[in-house]
Amino acid sequence: MKAYKGADGQLYFFRPQKNLERMNLSAQRLCMPRFPSELVLKVLKSLVYLERDWVPRGDGAGLYMRPTMIATEPKLGADPSESYLFYVISSPIGAYHKEDSAPAKIYASDTYTRAAEGGIGEAKSGGNYAASLLAAALGKEKGCSQVLWLDGKEHKYIEQAGSANIFFKYEDALVTPELSGSILHGITRDSVIRLAKSWGVEVIERQISIDEVTSAVKEGSLKEVFTTSTTAGIVPVGQIHYKDEDYTVADGTGGEFSQRLFAELTAIQYGRKEDPFGWVVRVG
Ligand SMILES: *Cc1c(COP(=O)(O)O)cnc(C)c1O
Repeated sequence: MKAYKGADGQLYFFRPQKNLERMNLSAQRLCMPRFPSELVLKVLKSLVYLERDWVPRGDGAGLYMRPTMIATEPKLGADPSESYLFYVISSPIGAYHKEDSAPAKIYASDTYTRAAEGGIGEAKSGGNYAASLLAAALGKEKGCSQVLWLDGKEHKYIEQAGSANIFFKYEDALVTPELSGSILHGITRDSVIRLAKSWGVEVIERQISIDEVTSAVKEGSLKEVFTTSTTAGIVPVGQIHYKDEDYTVADGTGGEFSQRLFAELTAIQYGRKEDPFGWVVRVG
């Protein structure tokens, strides 16, 4: 998650309890111990306070905090460890996606999968990134910055985009893949769903196939595609590369809806707008 400086100069976290709850669920899936999340939140607050001079200002900028857990028992073996180390990696980061940068081009892989049903795709685990690297390298050769992951069984249904979740904006509804067991439960995803609903937008979580998306692009019914994550925020997708074809979403320049979401989310995060959801937590 990120710690950042609000408009009032104070330090804040965005939905920290939800992040720690997810880390505990990931730990459980990997046979690692759960930790007391209230205690860890206190530790994170102390750390941010100590490092306060490293927290940059600006929308999307902040101190990236990555609580991490690794096994440390000295043995060869493929069973759960008897001991673990919990630590926090931290680094200042700037706004990942500049508002004036070009929308992303993403590579739908019909060969490789990130995670399968019953696997560890839902957990924030290093192994998932290991599985993603080769497809990402192939995508890069096609000029794509992220992989659009399809399901592991049929390579047909869209799951997510790289280490972000993905949304499809039609004229009258916002659609995102339903959490299938192999999709990471993004906190930005959840926040976007709740924000859009609060505006009266119909949000549908369902299966969405790559064929549906390419057809919708061709007939012009798909207005916008964008990805969501803590690190990069809300990033518009301009093009999808699938089976040697480029599909340009609308005019390829992104769109108003994702911009409005980004503006609203950052206004809430940075304290320029009231936070009706109770998402923003003060550090000090
Ligand atoms: C962290 C992550 C996301 C996005 O989750 P957020 O909570 O919104 O940051 C999506 N996919 C993967 C694989 C991730 O690791």
